[in-house]
Amino acid sequence: MSLPNKIQMVDLKGQYQKIKTEVDAAMNEVISSTSFINGPAVKEFQSNFETYLNIKHVIPCANGTDALQIAMMALDLKQGDEVITANFTYVATAEVIGLLGLSPVLVEVNQDTFNIDIESIERNITSKTKAIVPVHLFGQCADMERIMAIAKKHNLYVIEDTAQAIGADYSFSDGRNFKAGTIGTIGCTSFFPSKNLGCFGDGGAIFTNNDELAKKIRMIAHHGQSVQYVHEVLGVNSRLDSIQAAILKIKLKHLDEYALSRNKVAEFYDKAFSNHSKIKIPSRSKNSTHVFHQYTLQIIGYDRSELREKLTEHGIPAMIYYPIPLHKQNAYKNERFKTNDFPITQKLCDTVLSLPMHTELDEDTLNYITNTLLRIIK
Ligand SMILES: *Cc1c(COP(=O)(O)O)cnc(C)c1O
Repeated sequence: MSLPNKIQMVDLKGQYQKIKTEVDAAMNEVISSTSFINGPAVKEFQSNFETYLNIKHVIPCANGTDALQIAMMALDLKQGDEVITANFTYVATAEVIGLLGLSPVLVEVNQDTFNIDIESIERNITSKTKAIVPVHLFGQCADMERIMAIAKKHNLYVIEDTAQAIGADYSFSDGRNFKAGTIGTIGCTSFFPSKNLGCFGDGGAIFTNNDELAKKIRMIAHHGQSVQYVHEVLGVNSRLDSIQAAILKIKLKHLDEYALSRNKVAEFYDKAFSNHSKIKIPSRSKNSTHVFHQYTLQIIGYDRSELREKLTEHGIPAMIYYPIPLHKQNAYKNERFKTNDFPITQKLCDTVLSLPMHTELDEDTLNYITNTLLRIIK
């Protein structure tokens, strides 16, 4: 088999080539106008994104980590308040909880969906618990119906980290439909270049339907300022650049089509790897669509690092998201989390392998990837 063009985890160049004329024009317009900060493109993107998400308020900010931090600042959580989040995730979620002097309570995830485990949430609720931060990992929503029910029962805030699942749809059993990130008290996302809706640098956004909260979030993101030079609360400086907003405005129009391409790749992989005794394909949650930020296999009964090395030799990149559970990281070690408290999280860290997943993968490349992998693991 001959090697196709260099295979990448994410092909940003190929995606850019297809929308280059439009994107370049939009960027040039910002440059010519020199409205680099809070220019019209920011407002336009914000308003288009509100329509797309069917939410009252989108507050753009500088990145996804800031979005999470500002969201938690807006909820007036106090030092020592407990915030429940998944142990198997990207570090940002737990990081901002810690930075604000809150106490991150890490809980188990579901072995099949990789998302936060509902029983583990319930088991960890105490009188100090103030919020739950479900991370919609790899592109599909956590079990929001049950999470919202728990939150209601215990009077908790829900902050959805939807950095990996923007555009996914979630449906409740009564038929109501929502975009990922618009169900909880506040939603947060990232426009990091490799995210499903990525800009050409850093960017992020916060969503809410609550007018009061939106006002507060906007204020906190702008130095806690209500009107110029009047500072009501302690804030930060976190903005989405006009150039990034101009790019995002164009990419937003393609977001659903991008999700479709990613789903086609996932179906191709599924077909190749289902029924294989040493490979477990990613499960789909029943109430959520999947936008496949990552396509993540579990490799069972074959040495994962050997597989990864052999794939690399054949020009196929594969990544481990995430290799070390948060409770074993020096920054997050805590008496509360005993080393082997998290058998599922640990098992996932030991077995997951994410394959190339992006909008530009063609059938030849997919055939090459799947055939090569199946020749390695017989
Ligand atoms: C990418 C990501 C973030 C952080 O986004 P940045 O824009 O890089 O700050 C937060 N949470 C999750 C789940 C992510 O994947």
